[in-house]
Amino acid sequence: MVLTAHAIVGASIANLMPNHPMLGFATGFASHFLLDSIPHWDYHLLSSKKDPQNPLNDDLILGKNFLIDLMKIGTDFLLGIIISILLFVDISNFSLTSFFTSAIFWGIAGSLLPDALQFVYFKWRHEPLTTLQRFHNWVQNKKKLKNEPVWGIISQLTIITTLATVSILIL
Ligand SMILES: [Zn+2]
Repeated sequence: MVLTAHAIVGASIANLMPNHPMLGFATGFASHFLLDSIPHWDYHLLSSKKDPQNPLNDDLILGKNFLIDLMKIGTDFLLGIIISILLFVDISNFSLTSFFTSAIFWGIAGSLLPDALQFVYFKWRHEPLTTLQRFHNWVQNKKKLKNEPVWGIISQLTIITTLATVSILIL
């Protein structure tokens, strides 16, 4: 799933446990794999190199294409953080210190960490990252909505708006 969806889901769950940032982090981390197991769509990365025989050999090739990808990923990342803040943080009392110690921040961090670790694995193929990568690959639903961005986006939007609404209504 795209980072924006992961971040908003992580923040929605953490919002339910405002006094437990570390629990927010752990549930955010777990939610990443749960979301990835749902058939979904991801934008294409130009620098992505796939090995159909063995997905453990997949890689992101650093170069000009990677810089273009980095802009996509960066926009996706920022969008997730900005929407999460707008939804769950009291902007009138916003301070960086309170944000960085909040469950919301840690929920977002946990939900995004698996994809960051995936990148670390591409560049440093060692344990325990190899096992985590194998699990990350395994959890990805095989029925990818690869050529169906419309359905892919609608299904992700449905999931995140439902979870965010439930989270806001409960608290
Ligand atoms: Zn993932």
